[in-house]
Amino acid sequence: MNKKEKSKNKLPEWNTEANSKKFASRIVSGIHQANVKPNTKKSVFNVKQHYNNIDNLCTEILHFNRTALSLAITLIESNSPKHFAISQELIRKLLPYYGNSIRIGITGVPGAGKSSFIEALGIFLIENGHKVAVLAIDPSSTISKGSILGDKTRMEKLSRYDNSFIRPSPSSGVLGGVARKTRETIIACEAAGFDVILIETIGVGQSEITVRSIVDFFILLQITGSGDELQTIKKGIIELADLILINKADGDNILKAELTRNECAQMMQYIQPITKDWNTPVLTSSALTGLNIERTWTVINQFMEITKENGFFELRRINQQIEWLHTMLLEALTNTFFSNKALSDKYKQLQNSVLEGSLTPTSAVNLLIENYIKSLSLQ
Ligand code: GDP
Repeated sequence: MNKKEKSKNKLPEWNTEANSKKFASRIVSGIHQANVKPNTKKSVFNVKQHYNNIDNLCTEILHFNRTALSLAITLIESNSPKHFAISQELIRKLLPYYGNSIRIGITGVPGAGKSSFIEALGIFLIENGHKVAVLAIDPSSTISKGSILGDKTRMEKLSRYDNSFIRPSPSSGVLGGVARKTRETIIACEAAGFDVILIETIGVGQSEITVRSIVDFFILLQITGSGDELQTIKKGIIELADLILINKADGDNILKAELTRNECAQMMQYIQPITKDWNTPVLTSSALTGLNIERTWTVINQFMEITKENGFFELRRINQQIEWLHTMLLEALTNTFFSNKALSDKYKQLQNSVLEGSLTPTSAVNLLIENYIKSLSLQ
């Protein structure tokens, strides 16, 4: 490929919905477009104008303008320092309006039926007067640059409802970065008036733990007979759940699902619940027949009642804020350290000394910190 072709194929660092079908976060077209259809009742958005006028953008978001919300999220997801500054200002302005939702995490292996379940639950909720935002955390995309969650057309029916908003996962950066972006996206969605936020993730690696640290309620979708049960237990995901659903309990699978449900419920007796005063229920479910979709919502309401009463709901959110601050600080410190050439050179040099056995890691760290402090005083 020659230079010209290369630059033609290169994705822009950041681009707006108005300018391109491609996004910095490499969101699949199609689904995204279905959710950011311009609000024709209002004057058409001029992106530049919003760029320069955060107040305006903020007002539109507060008035449930989904195009404005989508633009805000694109800013949040951007890796450009310039957009970072703008998005931080926007978030600061939206902060007084957030917090009024239930944040629900949903995990399960690919094919467990997450998107079908979210669609069924989302439609049920909207038909019962709720406003539902669906976000996704897809760690696979940060590793492979492809997306397991995003590479198919998902939740088309749900996306047609005015009170829905579906945002596929940002695929840029490390998982930590994705978590920050998701947390800020939640702020924007809540400020816009969404009262149920569904956050989907695939059951691989660290992603469940990340999502658990963001949500109030965590659902694990299991399927029968695939050997996933063992995998899930081994990885400790089962311990993170506030509700376990044995999914696709329909047709020929009903009996098998019921058996798995019984086994799983017995196993849960030996597992310490993650939430105070809450025994994680195990139910069967089906997006196909609607089995236990409504019940899921009843369970979530019972959970909220109990945890708001015993103070755990608030406590968990406070702890999540503290953890967020802490993680952000660690991330920022690491970035500051390694973006300093002299320090990262020193790090490599001391790493060699540690490998040669002439220095212990503890002494190496002490030396590095000394260097770091010196570098600060030179600034
Ligand atoms: P995800 O990868 O976890 O998001 O799973 P999907 O929702 O995309 O579903 C994977 C496959 O399972 C699709 O072919 C769905 O049609 C099917 N599926 C999803 N939910 C159900 C269900 O409740 N019952 C049955 N029988 N099939 C389902």
